[in-house]
Amino acid sequence: MAIDIAPLRIDTLLTEPVGVDMLRLDAIHPFVSGNKYFKLKYNIAAALEQGASALVSFGGAYSNHLHALAWAANKYGLPSVGLVRGEPVNNPTLHDCRQWGMQLHFVSRSDYNNKREEDYLQRWQAQYPNAYLIPEGGDNELGLQGCEHILDGIDTSVYQHLVCAVGTGTTFAGLARSLPETCMAWGVPVFKHHNPILDSLREKIPHSRWGWLGGYEDGGFGKYSVALQEKVATWEGAWGIELDRVYTAKMVWAVMESMDKEVFNAGERVLMVHTGGLQGNRVQLR
Ligand SMILES: *Cc1c(COP(=O)(O)O)cnc(C)c1O
Repeated sequence: MAIDIAPLRIDTLLTEPVGVDMLRLDAIHPFVSGNKYFKLKYNIAAALEQGASALVSFGGAYSNHLHALAWAANKYGLPSVGLVRGEPVNNPTLHDCRQWGMQLHFVSRSDYNNKREEDYLQRWQAQYPNAYLIPEGGDNELGLQGCEHILDGIDTSVYQHLVCAVGTGTTFAGLARSLPETCMAWGVPVFKHHNPILDSLREKIPHSRWGWLGGYEDGGFGKYSVALQEKVATWEGAWGIELDRVYTAKMVWAVMESMDKEVFNAGERVLMVHTGGLQGNRVQLR
C-alpha cells in the first residue's frame, strides 16, 4: 500500500526491576492509525487488484477501523461504505469518515449481529456490486497476514514478553505468530465475553507460547472507570505519551499489575504495543 508511514519507534519507559518498552504504532500515521494500517494493507491491495468498485466494512460509531479505512479509501479514490452499529448519531469519528467521502448506513444492533452471516453479506454485496467487503475490525486472513509484518525490522530477541490489547485478536495473533521462541505473547482482552476469541486464537496461533492477562476489562468494552482514569493520567504525565482509553490504557494497566504479580521477572524485558486509536479519545468515556 502506498500510504507513507513513519519508521517504527520504540520508547523505553522503565528499566528496572523489569525493562518496559513501548512500540509506538500510534506514531506511524496521523489517520491510518496503529494496527489498522497493517490490517488494511493487504486488503486494500487486493481490492485495487480486483478493480473493486468500493470498500465496504463494519464498525461501531467510534470505530478506529472505519476511520482508518475511510481515509485510506479516499487516498486511493475508492468509494467507501461504513455499516455502523446502532442508531444514527454524529460524533468526531463519523464526522471525519463522512468528510473523507464514506457513505454511512446505520444498522440496528440485531441486524448488526448478522455481520458474519453469508446471507446478510450477500444483501450488501447486491446493493454495492463488485464492492470489496472487509469484516469488522479488518479481521480476515489478509488482515492477519498484515499483522505478521508489524515486527519486521525490530530486534525481538531482546524481549522475553510482548503484550498487546485484544479486540478481534487479529493483531495479537499476527504478532504471536511472528515472535521468536524466546518471547512469550500476552493478550489483554478489553471486553467481557472473550471465550470465543480465545477459541479463535487457538486456531490462529500455531504454538503455545502465548497467554492471557485477564481481569482488566474495567467493566467492559468502552468502559473507563475513575480509578483507571487516574492511573492513565499518571502514566501519560510520566511518559509524555497519550494512551487510547479503549485498548491501550487497559493493556498498560495489565502490564503494571502483572509486574506486581511477578508474571515478569527482574531483569527481563517487556515490549508493550501501543496500537494507536487516539482519534477515539476525542469523546469522553465513563
Ligand atoms: C482495533 C484496535 C485494537 C484491536 O485489534 P484487534 O486486531 O481487533 O484485536 C487494539 N487497539 C486499538 C487502538 C484498536 O483500534
